[in-house]
Amino acid sequence: MTAATFESLGLAPALAHACKEVGYLAPSAIQVEAIPPLLRGQDLLGLAPTGSGKTAAFVLPLLQRLAEGRQRAFRRVRVLVLVPTRELATQVGEVFRRLGGASAHPPRVSILHGGVSVNPQMMALRGGADIVVATPGRLLDLMERNALRLDIVEALVLDEADRLLDLGFAAERERVLAALPAQRQNLLFSATFPAEVQALADALLRDAVRVEAATQARSEPQITQRVIAVDAPRRTELLRHLVEEGKWPRVLVFVATRHATEHVAAKLRARGVQAAALHGELSQGGRTDVLRGFKEGAWTVLVTTDLAGRGIDIAGLDVVVNYDLPRSADDYVHRIGRTGRAGAAGLAISFTSAATEPHLRLIEKRNGLALPREQVPGFEPVETEAPPRADAGTGGIKGRRPSKKDKLRAAAAKGAPP
Ligand code: AMP
Repeated sequence: MTAATFESLGLAPALAHACKEVGYLAPSAIQVEAIPPLLRGQDLLGLAPTGSGKTAAFVLPLLQRLAEGRQRAFRRVRVLVLVPTRELATQVGEVFRRLGGASAHPPRVSILHGGVSVNPQMMALRGGADIVVATPGRLLDLMERNALRLDIVEALVLDEADRLLDLGFAAERERVLAALPAQRQNLLFSATFPAEVQALADALLRDAVRVEAATQARSEPQITQRVIAVDAPRRTELLRHLVEEGKWPRVLVFVATRHATEHVAAKLRARGVQAAALHGELSQGGRTDVLRGFKEGAWTVLVTTDLAGRGIDIAGLDVVVNYDLPRSADDYVHRIGRTGRAGAAGLAISFTSAATEPHLRLIEKRNGLALPREQVPGFEPVETEAPPRADAGTGGIKGRRPSKKDKLRAAAAKGAPP
């Protein structure tokens, strides 16, 4: 491939310069594909995980189109980006601000999400917002309060559409779409492509160009995936051992429940590892502090769940550990996509035990993987068969009965090839 530059994709010199300022030397593959059609105003379907550079792929052309278009209007929004989580709202909003900041008339960006007081968001919207990055719940709340109008929106972006749907966006979608003008540009990004996302794309997009960044778990050689067999009760000790031996500065650890985030973080701290828990029941201030501490290096280990870990963008995240296996094969892809970002090498380690082995095989099968099982000297597993608890290793929720889904999964796992 000839080396594209930001200018050669059609971006104005000021934006191309802003890219260099933030350290993007050359456009990533998805940026090369997406930017030219987006500059022409086309709809776009992006099959892209976080870490592919997809945010700048839509931020850059939308900034350029805004600069070329009409002027700001009272309480009216021109670009609307919907995201599933607060963290992602902040991240995407910051990318708009950073890349748009260099222009002669920097756009106004409002970041709207729940978990914080609504009043400052309403105040900020009074002066108008060119760009709104929002989670759906707070957006609807503000629409009901007449804090903003969407009737001149020129471009709608649904980011991590699969996650938006997981979080109940289907129910909110009609109310948001009904407030938008019929004539607009639509962009939809998703890391996975289940039928519901396809249906959403069909309903939303017209003559869309389709761009695809390789799903990292399947084809990205820069993420080394390892599986270590260990008995469940020894996982914390093994984790501490690996963190110390590898001298990893930043490790994101996934567990199955909110309770487990606290529990594992506390056990690690008791063993001298700087660890913090990130989960959905922290206050917004608490989440921000924990994330900042992790980014700034106050914590070596951040223990989180799939929900809270979604969309976290941490430059230089070296290692992801599946302390508990994810429930689904797609969650596995999302989790390991937290590492090895934007060309940097990453490592994803999954712990497995006799009890979780069938579930891991199912995850591998769905993702076309066959990973060797390793053992770490001193931590060789001794358990040979599943303990009686049906949920061991996937959640550790004491006394929980297996659900219908759990039973189906167990049955399917038995039939899976070794
Ligand atoms: P995203 O997939 O949008 O979450 O982006 C993942 C990471 O890649 C972010 O930390 C971006 O700052 C970074 N990034 C995006 N585009 C480029 C680029 N062209 N060159 C280098 N890094 C980039």
